[in-house]
Amino acid sequence: MRAKEFTKLSSKTMYSEPESYAHKLDDLVDLPTINESIKLTDDERKEHIKKFIKWTIKLLNIEKPYPRMIFSNDTEKAQKGHHTGVHTSEDDTIWIYIGNRNLVDILRTLMHELTHEKQMQLNMVKPGDSYPGSPIEMLADMVAGKYIKVWGKKHPEIFE
Ligand SMILES: [Zn+2]
Repeated sequence: MRAKEFTKLSSKTMYSEPESYAHKLDDLVDLPTINESIKLTDDERKEHIKKFIKWTIKLLNIEKPYPRMIFSNDTEKAQKGHHTGVHTSEDDTIWIYIGNRNLVDILRTLMHELTHEKQMQLNMVKPGDSYPGSPIEMLADMVAGKYIKVWGKKHPEIFE
């Protein structure tokens, strides 16, 4: 089945779902309140992020000059751009949204964007290549998804 047909099929299935399914979900989904007490302190988080950047730069063999990395609480920017991370090649900057996010998610986004840095260094990115689901994006997701597991095994405290 081609991707287009699959999308058509799945959206059709979704819309034809009976109303009662929403009620059934209440029995299926166990959603407790978030436990804030297990969160890392600000300093622990900062140190951890720096350690992770060093590890990722080495792992992906990212060459100097390294990009500027801006960590931001700007919720409006995240919502307007509907993203939690951006790599801008013009000024070689990575922007990461950290507002109310689990450390594991911040690090995954960071590695995704650092993978784009590596792709740029390898001249793999041409204008218009970074649309959702594009090969460039899939590769960045794959790298981040794989190595966040490797890092998490050694550093379980990132699962807050
Ligand atoms: Zn991306």
